Amino acid sequence: PSALDRDQMQGLRGIREFLKVRTSYDVLPLSFRLIVLDTELLIRKSLNILIQNGIVSAPLWDSTNSTFAGLLTSTDYINVIQYYCQFPDEIDQVDKFRLSSLRDIERAIGVLPLETVSVHPMRPLYEACRRMLKTRARRIPLVDVDDETGREMVVSVITQYRILKFIAVNNEKHTILLRKPVREIGLGTYTNLATADMNNSVLDVIHLMVKHNISAVPIIDSENKVLNVFEAVDVIPCIKGGAYDELTSSVGEALSKRADDFPGIYTCSEDDRLDAIFETIRKSRVHRLIVVDDDNRLKGIISLSDILKHVLLFGAEDDNIRAG
Ligand code: ATP
Repeated sequence: PSALDRDQMQGLRGIREFLKVRTSYDVLPLSFRLIVLDTELLIRKSLNILIQNGIVSAPLWDSTNSTFAGLLTSTDYINVIQYYCQFPDEIDQVDKFRLSSLRDIERAIGVLPLETVSVHPMRPLYEACRRMLKTRARRIPLVDVDDETGREMVVSVITQYRILKFIAVNNEKHTILLRKPVREIGLGTYTNLATADMNNSVLDVIHLMVKHNISAVPIIDSENKVLNVFEAVDVIPCIKGGAYDELTSSVGEALSKRADDFPGIYTCSEDDRLDAIFETIRKSRVHRLIVVDDDNRLKGIISLSDILKHVLLFGAEDDNIRAG
């Protein structure tokens, strides 16, 4: 192996060691707020609460049993939209659904419920990462048990972004070793990309996301140039106020409803190196990178899970063989 390969492996091993000696609790800021929603809340109202607080997900609390009831995410709203598409006559019903109905909606449209994984905040961060990759969860609630009452307590939620940011901020001595370009380490997806154009309807794009089990679709023009990215979280403002019939409007229109503080989309080239990607993560709220060529034509997509997978698993089998 070249010096570049050796450094890359050394950097990755360093990060893995770091993740094993830190806990999920370490990732949390000193002070933070946590918005937890009661499962008795109307789904319609939950939308406004998310929008007003500038968040895209929240833990759910079942106050009848005093238990944690899973995580509300944009996937749940996409399920409600699918329900509406399958049973359009029931729009009045849809308006009356409570968060506790989400499991019934899943059943009615025939999707498997998302696995309700959680981790204890004091367990190694490495464990939370492995669990995220295994279950394909993009965020994991940290659930502790109250010593006195023996009851479950949701401490916070950690996302792939927070973990990668934590690595980027605290591990520069390892991330600077990751000098291999994206092309060489095969980071991301480059074939069978799901894309749409500005004239496709929001519903078209939602169906595409469901079909491919992805949460972002690049919006391209006739020359394959990237104009924007429609994300699963973009459906939230679309259905605010119960305007499900407006989902037939175009992606272009929907994207104009984005909040003013939308962090923007990030692109990179296949020649960019992983150290540069960590630098971007350190500085900005990146949710994925769109890989483009010099003319801004779409080449591929690097999701945060692609990066996390590389960090945790690349060349790890060799390590196990050597260790074993
Ligand atoms: P997020 O970025 O929120 O984690 P995502 O859907 O972009 O969500 P994943 O769910 O991690 O990403 O993606 C799973 C796999 O699908 C990844 O390997 C990613 O590269 C790939 N992928 C993501 N978006 C697309 C797309 N539009 N077309 C094809 N493949 C995609």
